[in-house]
Amino acid sequence: MLVVEDDIALASILERGLVEDGYAVDLAHKVVDARHLATTHDYDVVVLDLGLPDGNGLDLCRALRDEGFTVPVLMLTARDSLSDKVSGLDAGADDYLTKPFDYPELAARLRALLRRPSTATTPMLEVGDLRLESASRRVWKGAVTVPLTSREFSLLEFLMMRPGHVVSRTDLLEHVWDANYDGLSNVVDVHIANLRRKLGGSASSGEVSIETVRGAGYRLAPMEAA
Ligand code: CA
Repeated sequence: MLVVEDDIALASILERGLVEDGYAVDLAHKVVDARHLATTHDYDVVVLDLGLPDGNGLDLCRALRDEGFTVPVLMLTARDSLSDKVSGLDAGADDYLTKPFDYPELAARLRALLRRPSTATTPMLEVGDLRLESASRRVWKGAVTVPLTSREFSLLEFLMMRPGHVVSRTDLLEHVWDANYDGLSNVVDVHIANLRRKLGGSASSGEVSIETVRGAGYRLAPMEAA
């Protein structure tokens, strides 16, 4: 997700909480950076402060909506007047949170926003004998629950939304980690290896498996019909 907040202390508190909750977070402190990131990356949700040093969140939100940007936007503001709230929603924000707020409240609003489109269309992802429920972040193989870390869950969710398609390491780093991730480049491979171990299965036994596609990335191979 993209968090646009010029208060550095607040931004880092939010980032820490969100990363702990398993989200990939990019931070922007100015309208110009937010605009650049929002138009060059594919975010699931945007948290947008209203008052920014080089402009305001309302104008940015309106401009992005005018350009066809459909990602849910949660607007943050220090103001609490009805007219600000109405302007925020008019500008295309999906929800509104007045500062000061507690982190759990922000997290709950984000969960609600993220669930909104997915529950409407895909309440449960199913590929072969694997099932994944986004809302509760749970995974089953057959009837057995598979315990995953939040990063593993996000990886699997991304692959299960694209069964049979090759997904590159860059795609995974951008969506499951974040745009500025500068750690080891084999971090994806390590997590994929852990996922494979937990999920078991192999293409040869006809079960769902995560295949390595040489030079391209990974593919979740759907189980062949028996
Ligand atoms: Ca501000």
